[in-house]
Amino acid sequence: MKRLTEINALRELQKLKKEYQNFIKNNYEQRAENCETCPTKGACCLDAHFVNVHITKLEAVAVRKTLDKLSSEKQKKIYRRAEETVEKYDLKTTGDSFAQTFACPLFEKNIGCLVHSEGKPAPCISHACYENATDLPPENLQTTIETTIERLNKRTYGDDLTWLPLPVWLDLINPFNC
Ligand code: SF4
Ligand code: SF4
Repeated sequence: MKRLTEINALRELQKLKKEYQNFIKNNYEQRAENCETCPTKGACCLDAHFVNVHITKLEAVAVRKTLDKLSSEKQKKIYRRAEETVEKYDLKTTGDSFAQTFACPLFEKNIGCLVHSEGKPAPCISHACYENATDLPPENLQTTIETTIERLNKRTYGDDLTWLPLPVWLDLINPFNC
């Protein structure tokens, strides 16, 4: 397997996510509820009984790059929120981590998802509220993109591949912890 530098892997990841986002937008989103006019905006991201978004190291680095564009004060607040989320929901790196749920620390009141335009996790790109279950993007689309993301991670970091709850990864890559 040909190795990739992190910078090239991030470039490929960004291209992949952009294509996926456009594909979902053009083929499915028009049948979904409009998030802009949603009376419970953000309920999907803050529902601690529902959200179990997992990401890989490469995606965590992509999220960090997006957050790097914010003021350091703001960044510290977000990383602190991630740390508090890990503690509050007792998120672990072992066992069935997909069974663990939490309110996402990347949701900001009055703004929305802080990584919406860059670094958004694949399940969040796929997710929307649909009246008819038949209008939902099929699960195999997400499986396919996640398999590609896994391959990019392997080519970048070798076998050190771990899908972990998003707040756990944010805590692990927190630049203010160094
Ligand atoms: S995904 Fe659903 S709950 Fe979340 S903002 Fe959009 S319409 Fe509202
Ligand atoms: S990453 Fe963004 S879209 Fe996904 S759960 Fe968090 S705030 Fe919501």
